[in-house]
Amino acid sequence: MIKAHCAKCRIPKAERICQVKEGGRHPEFCPTVHYRELAEEVTEVYRQPEYAEFARLASIQEAECYANRAPGPYVLQPSKTRIQETMEFARKLGCRKLGLAFCGGLQKEAGLVADILESQGFSLASVACNCGGVPKEAIGIADNEKVRIGSYETMCNPLLQAEILNHEETDLNVMLALCVGHDALFLKRAKAFCTVLAAKDRVTGHNPLAAVYTVHSYYQKLKKNA
Ligand code: SF4
Repeated sequence: MIKAHCAKCRIPKAERICQVKEGGRHPEFCPTVHYRELAEEVTEVYRQPEYAEFARLASIQEAECYANRAPGPYVLQPSKTRIQETMEFARKLGCRKLGLAFCGGLQKEAGLVADILESQGFSLASVACNCGGVPKEAIGIADNEKVRIGSYETMCNPLLQAEILNHEETDLNVMLALCVGHDALFLKRAKAFCTVLAAKDRVTGHNPLAAVYTVHSYYQKLKKNA
């Protein structure tokens, strides 16, 4: 039996056990019910110095991304773009030096992001995915497994991106459109906390949810193995 499947929860939000102070309802696969002890243990983890202030400030930042938060029934008024949110949060954390790990296909966008971050007073180290110039053969890629078959290609090198930013002693890393898989490797190796500015989607202008929103119309193939 699966004991955690919030994505399938159909309890109205205002009645959910995870949303109300007491007396909430839940489906049979509710992790709030099945993992009560774990929730208590993890709440303790938030009190560890490594997480305590970071988590507190992240929650404050979340709320500050909405306008006119007067007491009473509230209609959400989101007010900040993600890059603004990122900079405000970095400032709250006291970050001086940021790392920018970006996909080499977004060189122009990385330059724009760098200009914005630096104009707001952050010191910045930035690393493209192809840094190091290591050929794909180094990780066992055959010629017919390259993007441009038959050509010389350097590998995306997220472990090196992470290690360079580790050496640069960045306070927070910002990820810009790393590939699926390469992003996971970067996250596994980076020492500093990391946040994602944009997730790569080659077809939708880096808006992965565009395909998700249209799964019942133009992207039906996503559910049909087409
Ligand atoms: S924690 Fe339980 S009630 Fe809350 S969304 Fe998940 S399944 Fe639904």
